[in-house]
Amino acid sequence: MTDRAYIPIVVGNKVLNEGSDGVGQSFDPATGVLVAEFARAGAVEVDMAVAAAREAFDNGPWRRMRPFERGRILHRIGELMLQRRDEIARKESIDSGKPLRDSYWEVDCSARFFEFYGGAADKLHGSSIPLGPDWSDWTVKEAIGVSLHIIPWNYPFQLIARGVAPALAAGCAVIIKPSADTPVTAYEFMKICQEAGLPEGLVNLVNGRGSVAGDLLARHKGVDQITFTGSVPTGERVLVAAASHAIPCNMELGGKSPQILFADADLDKSLPIVAGGFLTHCGQVCNAGTRLFVERSIHDRVVDKLHARISAMTLGAGVDDPDMGPLISRAHKNDVERYYDIARKDGELLLGADLPKSASLAEGAFVRPGLVIGANNSTQIAREEIFGPILTVIPFDTAEEAVAGANDSPFGLVAGIHTTNINKALGVGEKLRVGQVWINAFGVGLDVEFPFGGFKLSGFGREKGLEALSAYQQVKNFAIHHPLA
Ligand code: NAD
Repeated sequence: MTDRAYIPIVVGNKVLNEGSDGVGQSFDPATGVLVAEFARAGAVEVDMAVAAAREAFDNGPWRRMRPFERGRILHRIGELMLQRRDEIARKESIDSGKPLRDSYWEVDCSARFFEFYGGAADKLHGSSIPLGPDWSDWTVKEAIGVSLHIIPWNYPFQLIARGVAPALAAGCAVIIKPSADTPVTAYEFMKICQEAGLPEGLVNLVNGRGSVAGDLLARHKGVDQITFTGSVPTGERVLVAAASHAIPCNMELGGKSPQILFADADLDKSLPIVAGGFLTHCGQVCNAGTRLFVERSIHDRVVDKLHARISAMTLGAGVDDPDMGPLISRAHKNDVERYYDIARKDGELLLGADLPKSASLAEGAFVRPGLVIGANNSTQIAREEIFGPILTVIPFDTAEEAVAGANDSPFGLVAGIHTTNINKALGVGEKLRVGQVWINAFGVGLDVEFPFGGFKLSGFGREKGLEALSAYQQVKNFAIHHPLA
């Protein structure tokens, strides 16, 4: 992406180069250079997008196709993503700042979502229910209707695929509202959908400000369901908007995920996982493992090793595939740096890698990774989601203490457990109030098959796996009375 991109609104396969809320801009977070401008939707374009999606859902061919035919088109979308892997990954790294290998992962994972749900499209069975003699009863699964997908900036391409693939498999029409910070790859997604042969109006792209286009869409009476991924405060606003017309929502919100490291763990294997858990995409990951509960006998050794590790890291532009790229923006950099002061108030801050020295990166939103020691689990640094590369390390003496600390959080998205003792791993895992438990792992990679979602403030509903499909379906029951005489 050497030339500046222009990202339109796409409604019913029509490209709208102008939006009634003006023009937005997106910057390369590594350099501060303007990389894209985009049309910002207002009420006019929001109405057009909802009308196009409604028409596609109510009268278009998608629901009349046989499910396996829908599945074939979804598979084709996955294939086209993999064919354009290099181009999309590069654009994603420039727009979002993430290292190139993570952008490749986004594209690969997105293709997997379309493969997985393409395969599921003809397996969305109902059930038969025994009512006794003279009765037959069964359920069918019907598409819920027009599904709105509100996307954050941290995984702009992959999070579109995560929600849109199951929605389409279920037979829905879709409206995508990307983050105003990362509009670029959503347009690539639209082009692929069109090339794969999705019917007109089935997928619509509405760029714009969250407070304008996002809010108008969430309140729109033509929308039947919302999948929101983002922060807790915005999620609460979206829930209020959804409540204004009583529609269901999937809420994927924030986290402050614990990792529990026992003294019997194999540190050579565990510490790279612990480090990856809070450093991936500069800590801007909803499930980032940002609280490390470590058994006291190995606390100092673990801190030394982690500090050596973060000190040796390279920081740079995402396209150069450094150990760590920049944050999403200078505004977010200011937010994260505020937590360095909070860390020093709550405990001791050990910083790692130096900032990049190159003049071309002087305006980049880079921050140094950090460890916080001496802060307990009730401090601000241990409780708030930072969305930056900062790990709070907290010692524990017993497994019960580790579990209590891990659960003492407003969030409950994921947890990691590192131990070579399987009883300990499963006993602790059973007691954790989180949506996913990873043992001797933190993430699986291309993990589209199992459900993902949170307890508590981390949200509700599940993405991924077969569970995700239920958000996009209504259950209809048939009962027949058929006495022979
Ligand atoms: P955000 O809440 O600021 O924005 C998310 C989206 O909501 C954007 O598209 C934004 O334009 C839109 N929006 C803003 N105001 C709106 C309104 N009033 N009505 C409708 N839409 C509105 O989040 P962000 O800063 O883009 O992303 C970071 C957050 O996302 C973090 O809290 C992170 O934990 C969370 N996240 C969660 C998951 C998950 O799966 N649980 C995944 C990724 C990110």
